[in-house]
Amino acid sequence: DVVKIGRALLSVSDKAGMAEFARDLASLGVELVSTGGTHKLIADAGVKVREISDLTGFPEMMDGRVKTLHPKVHGGLLAVRDNPEHKAAMEAHAIAPIDLVVVNLYPFEATVAKGADYDTTIENIDIGGPAMIRSAAKNHAFVTVIVDPADYGAVIAAIRAEGGVPYALRQRLAAKAYARTAAYDTAISTWFAREIDYQDIPYRSFAGTLREVMRYGENPHQWAGFYTTGEPRPGVSTATQVQGKTLSYNNINDTDAAFELVSEFDPSESAAVAIIKHANPCGVAVADNVVDAYKLALRTDPVSAFGGIVAINREIDARAAEEIVKVFTEVIVAPAATQEAIDIIAAKKNLRLLLTGGLADPKAAGLTVRTVAGGLLVQTRDNKNVDDTEFRVVTKKQPTTQELVDLKLAAKVAKHVKSNAIVYVREGATVGIGAGQMSRVDSSRIASRKAQDAAEAAGITESLTKGSAVASDAFFPFADGLLAAVEAGATAVIQPGGSIRDEDVIKAADDAGIAMVFTGMRHFRH
Ligand code: 5GP
Repeated sequence: DVVKIGRALLSVSDKAGMAEFARDLASLGVELVSTGGTHKLIADAGVKVREISDLTGFPEMMDGRVKTLHPKVHGGLLAVRDNPEHKAAMEAHAIAPIDLVVVNLYPFEATVAKGADYDTTIENIDIGGPAMIRSAAKNHAFVTVIVDPADYGAVIAAIRAEGGVPYALRQRLAAKAYARTAAYDTAISTWFAREIDYQDIPYRSFAGTLREVMRYGENPHQWAGFYTTGEPRPGVSTATQVQGKTLSYNNINDTDAAFELVSEFDPSESAAVAIIKHANPCGVAVADNVVDAYKLALRTDPVSAFGGIVAINREIDARAAEEIVKVFTEVIVAPAATQEAIDIIAAKKNLRLLLTGGLADPKAAGLTVRTVAGGLLVQTRDNKNVDDTEFRVVTKKQPTTQELVDLKLAAKVAKHVKSNAIVYVREGATVGIGAGQMSRVDSSRIASRKAQDAAEAAGITESLTKGSAVASDAFFPFADGLLAAVEAGATAVIQPGGSIRDEDVIKAADDAGIAMVFTGMRHFRH
């Protein structure tokens, strides 16, 4: 079922390949009709082309807002060619069939990405383009629609080989066309939601723009693509990759987790470094400079840090780069790097260096989405942290100033650890992290055992958890998890509180003579 192309309407913002495509169409006997800028390009290339105003009998008007919105265009696209009534309507109103529509839209996504102002962004909402695309795609029984210059070649080849466009190709192009208009409107609604802080819009859809088809997904037998949503927060999707191998699906997931974590720490107060494996931190530390923070973060779990992702909240300098490249690392992500640091990292060809230009605002509004069988679970970002809570000391003992600092650090890290999360911190550095266990007491035990391993690896004889501060992402349901921390030598605990057995847990803390703080804020992470 091949359809001959008699007339084509060309109206594109991305004019790549258009002059050549138009010349090919014309040489194949296709009559060309086009809008302002596209018309000029084609005419300048010496190809015969009609103006759209010539076809509609109306000028393009209102700054281009109304160019192709006309029954002569949409009748020519939507008419069912073998329907007698439609044919009669075409004759009565002098509507000529249009067999091919080539449209790519005002660059809305790119306009948002550039940070354009409100009015400019609104002006870049294409109206006539999506209308033509949708008309042509609906009528793909007769009409061919192209939304991507990458498809020019296939259509020309089909016309040359078969004298027209076969059904299978028209159908595929129609499917692609609706995917494009859906993504376009999603980009508009996403921008709007952000602009007026209306995250929970009903009907909200979540398609992004395909940025890259990846080599594979979480495992080699899985397909994967990286879609961007145009969210203007610095992070993995907006970062510049300075060097290294292509990022894999797991790299991107882990790098995101790493960067979101260090973004919780104000770089003007301290350097923060997080080392991430399988989206969980295996070491986090804050210090006066990046090198010290890195060394302390690494000390937590040097075994797991092998092949990890390193995120930093400050510019990487030469000293930090030298230190980091000593350990086999998959990705380094930071807001910036000095030229010297870049040169040092360049010696490791495969190591990826991502520079984001800034930190991701941890307080930013936004949504997270995950799939379940047959559905999507959508929620607002967990954009609060321990700084937004009011501390309630529930024990007889008050935390010391240093313990308070460490408790806050532990709580910030615990927010980024898969539940159940238990995080031991001493003097600005994690010393043991228990992640992803099904029982909280197991996470407590694992965290303290890891701290023992870390001390051993570092040749430290004293227990690293002695005098430490401990954070739990959710309340202790029983005293056992707390007792595991006491046994490890912890002297201060931070947790949301709210268990029906809070009294038992508080009593256990008092009996052990340690300090405990309730925040009232849980940070589950799954
Ligand atoms: P040109 O550069 O040819 O002047 O304009 C091409 C762009 O105009 C394309 O991106 C196309 O989608 C868009 N366009 C075509 N018709 C209309 C219309 O009636 N209204 C609006 N807002 N955009 C249109």
